Amino acid sequence: MPPTVSSRYERRQTRKIMVGSVPVGGDSPITVQSMTITKTADVEGTLAQIYALKAAGADIVRCTCNEKEAAEGLARIVPRSPVPIVADIHFHVEMALAALEAGVQCLRLNPGNLRKPEEIKLVARECRDRGVPVRIGVNAGSLDKDLYDKYGGPTPEALVESAQKELRLFREVDFDNVKISVKASNVPLMIEAYRQLSETVDHPLHLGVTEAGPPPAGTIKGTAGIATLLSEGIGDTIRYSLTADPVEEAKAGRVLLEALGLRERTNVDLIACPACGRAEIDVYKVAQEAQAALEGREIPLQVAVMGCVVNGPGEARSADLGIAAGRHRGHLFIRGRIVRVVPEDEMVSALVDEAEKLVKEGFEARLAAADESAAAEAEADRRALLDDKGADANRSEARVELIEKRLKQFDDQASG
Ligand code: SF4
Repeated sequence: MPPTVSSRYERRQTRKIMVGSVPVGGDSPITVQSMTITKTADVEGTLAQIYALKAAGADIVRCTCNEKEAAEGLARIVPRSPVPIVADIHFHVEMALAALEAGVQCLRLNPGNLRKPEEIKLVARECRDRGVPVRIGVNAGSLDKDLYDKYGGPTPEALVESAQKELRLFREVDFDNVKISVKASNVPLMIEAYRQLSETVDHPLHLGVTEAGPPPAGTIKGTAGIATLLSEGIGDTIRYSLTADPVEEAKAGRVLLEALGLRERTNVDLIACPACGRAEIDVYKVAQEAQAALEGREIPLQVAVMGCVVNGPGEARSADLGIAAGRHRGHLFIRGRIVRVVPEDEMVSALVDEAEKLVKEGFEARLAAADESAAAEAEADRRALLDDKGADANRSEARVELIEKRLKQFDDQASG
């Protein structure tokens, strides 16, 4: 088996808090969060979305609590939810108290929107007595007006000071069961704010680039901010804020943590070659079909779809399982070793079938069950393809010759 490289980020030490049954901070795994977009009063619709988010990789889900009906919805949602619920509170102290009555496992308070010290301390006292944590959720777009004026806008220092101001109020009532976020839609601002915050507090940090917009740009912005900080050891829980089905947020969070080696892989990691002149199939189409067939299932394997057998099995040698196309056939390989040759139209089904068997029976058993003649058949295909197309599948050399000829003609004309 080829050697693997695992990520080793020295994680900044934070204290651990509990959001219901899910630990956040300390040495606990980095968690994925998302937020429902249903009306919280719609209990069945919201629960359906919470279940979908959990299936996509969310560990904790936030729901808005903006009105009495939402708080009542939470009272019915919390006992049936498969993950801890955070109530999102903006302007109304009574909604924070109602959400606590509903039994939520965490509150998110926005210091820019809930601003009266007495109200903030009232909520903190209730949370302290009930053992419910709070996320201080600072947002550059709704920064406390005094701090906006003091700093002339939402600077990293202003965001950090907003969080510290709220923390001071909490401490006056002996409450510090807190995690913190200092989000902004501007990625460099967000990165710098979290860096500064991580120097001043040991509370767990919730990372996110807020209002990042629709994918793919939104996902890229989220990744730029979140991954940069995680690679510096900063961050204990993450959320992508996308203008999309929130399931996409949960998926993106999960994929990022798995890609960085910060969470165990639970679902498939599909890799595919970018295709080139050698490709024997429509790589995009086959990769999409394979993704659709394997996605959302508990198949924690890296699976490769490669456009040709000339380079595919070698290039994807480190994948657990893969298929490469050649002469209307698919070469199925496990960790670089060819185990079966199948007709081209059975490539995806053979890949899915083998993935299921690998998970059930293990690598040793599946390698032992390899078709003895497959390697020889595959090698024959590979050689035939090399003979057909040669080493220069993109006909670069012929093109170079044409260029030389053309330039020479031009020179001759100019000198004649
Ligand atoms: S695997 Fe084959 S088709 Fe895909 S990029 Fe490599 S050479 Fe090209």
